[in-house]
Amino acid sequence: MDCGLSTSLKLFIYLTIVKPNVVIVEEIKEIKEILAIPSKIVITSHLNPDGDALGSMLGLYWFLKNEGHDVSPVSPNDYPEFLQWLPGNDAVIDFARKKKLATKIIEEAEVIFFLDHNDPKRGGDMKEVLSLTKAKKIMIDHHPYPQLDVDFAISRTDASSTAELIYEFIQDMDGNKLMNKDIAECLYTGIMTDTGCFSYNSSRKRTFEIAAHLLTFDINKDEIFRKVYDNFSAQRMRLLGYCLNEKMQVYPEFHTAFISLTIEEQERYNFAVGDSEGFVNYPLSIKGICFTALFVERKDKIKISFRSRGAFPSNSFSEKYFSGGGHLNAAGGESILSLSETIQKFIDLLPQYAQELNSKSDCLQ
Ligand code: 5GP
Ligand code: MN
Repeated sequence: MDCGLSTSLKLFIYLTIVKPNVVIVEEIKEIKEILAIPSKIVITSHLNPDGDALGSMLGLYWFLKNEGHDVSPVSPNDYPEFLQWLPGNDAVIDFARKKKLATKIIEEAEVIFFLDHNDPKRGGDMKEVLSLTKAKKIMIDHHPYPQLDVDFAISRTDASSTAELIYEFIQDMDGNKLMNKDIAECLYTGIMTDTGCFSYNSSRKRTFEIAAHLLTFDINKDEIFRKVYDNFSAQRMRLLGYCLNEKMQVYPEFHTAFISLTIEEQERYNFAVGDSEGFVNYPLSIKGICFTALFVERKDKIKISFRSRGAFPSNSFSEKYFSGGGHLNAAGGESILSLSETIQKFIDLLPQYAQELNSKSDCLQ
């Protein structure tokens, strides 16, 4: 019986509620039919792309390009240098820098993939042009609570990363024969970065099976690690030291710790895009700390990262108070208050979560 819902909404309900984490064979068949014709395809992801966003975009880019499509990866904005070595990086168009060109490419696209991205707000300045597209829209993502209105949604929160879902997608498209070293390097990078080098989000056996298969394409996993994690400037390491020594505030009674960075401090340490990546994880290594935050002052807003251990939901906390979202244990948000007002707002919220932080945190065991 047709209950009057749009195909995409029905599909979404099916995927997330009726049969979570299962992709429907029928839908895959339809996507296959769409991709059977060489098309103009745009692949995009979320604002401030991370390793999973870039790895997924470029992994899929190589696959679709090898299938004969005209493919353009479009990033909403700039991303860290430690991701710029990925095969296919030169093909990425930065919307914020090349707005006219990127807009034209998006307008002409027949198919648009939204990867690691499920919320129109996360498209940054691209969201207007994306909302006007007549292209077929396909979302492949592993965040909870998808908000994007798309024709096809592969939305699986059980996957470690979107890169893992791109691997499955390529298999579902009968594309194993097109798998190669470029694709494997990109997808391995996505899985590695979204699992903190297989330290979280990676208890599923399938994640390791996929990683193992990627290794058969002669990729050098140690070199990939070094390119991503051992590629910082000396100033960035000094900034990290400064943050841990002088900027970290610890609230043991709330099992919480946070770090903040002013624009002046960033300038003092020659801050480059991506330099504060990972800072939010450090306080989680303190015994008894289950909730951490990083506040970074930008010209127009404060960008915030949250991390938690156990069942404390950093995503709903961020959504409720800091216009954000993300995963249960890794989320982000923003604030238009000043840095000190934002921090004060955060500190003032902690007492009402004291009980939850005490009871829901496996890290206390
Ligand atoms: P990070 O702290 O590394 O920037 O982001 C952690 C997680 O939260 C990622 O999955 C990221 O996509 C998501 N995230 C970061 N910032 C935002 C935001 O402003 N809004 C939403 N909805 N998600 C965010
Ligand atoms: Mn991801």
